[in-house]
Amino acid sequence: MRLILLGPPGAGKGTQAKRLEERYRIAQISTGDMLRAEVKSGSELGAKAKAIMESGALVPDGIVTAMLAKRVQQPDCERGFILDGFPRTVPQAEALDVMLREQKMDLDHVVELAVDDGALVERIAGRFTCAKCGEGYHDSFKKPARAGVCDVCGSTEFTRRADDKAETVAARLDAYHRQTAPLLPFYKAQGKLKQVDGMAEMDEVTRQLAAILGTPGGS
Ligand code: AMP
Repeated sequence: MRLILLGPPGAGKGTQAKRLEERYRIAQISTGDMLRAEVKSGSELGAKAKAIMESGALVPDGIVTAMLAKRVQQPDCERGFILDGFPRTVPQAEALDVMLREQKMDLDHVVELAVDDGALVERIAGRFTCAKCGEGYHDSFKKPARAGVCDVCGSTEFTRRADDKAETVAARLDAYHRQTAPLLPFYKAQGKLKQVDGMAEMDEVTRQLAAILGTPGGS
């Protein structure tokens, strides 16, 4: 199964993609995570991406598209993948269509996590992640059971994304509306677009997604 999760930053794409990865045993591909790994590694690509990401703007299409083209050829993508944060522009979506056609692959679903803009700044600005296992938390909505200790791995180190500051979030939302939202009519025209209520409880969003995607292993 190959699917795209669409929605603004803070809509819950990453959280839901991780759940779907486990449920359907397909690879979660987050171009944001891949770019952050490049920044951390100090690569040339990472150096180029760092300032752009911290400003809240999008990294050039050519860079992300090339990165994705390599990623989907990895063996863990054979059973399928969930794209989380790609495509972000119409040219990226067109490049993805070409890439899939060349590899005789179909895109099964494009699902929008629909959310109110007003809720996003609070959602994003309170996010933090376990530095060791990557489990996601939130200052108001999902605190660790014991303050300062990861529920999953017991680590006491957490990180916050440099671009999750309130000032940058506005620029990221603006980039979403100007550059990414046009993908909604793009995929609607292909008859692929479905929607779930991204404002619902996390488990309810997962249920709505599962209702669209069907039973693991089933048709
Ligand atoms: P994300 O983790 O998906 O919120 O992405 C974090 C940042 O990485 C974005 O604000 C962009 O600067 C960059 N980025 C991630 N995916 C893409 C993409 N598909 N196209 C362009 N820039 C991207």
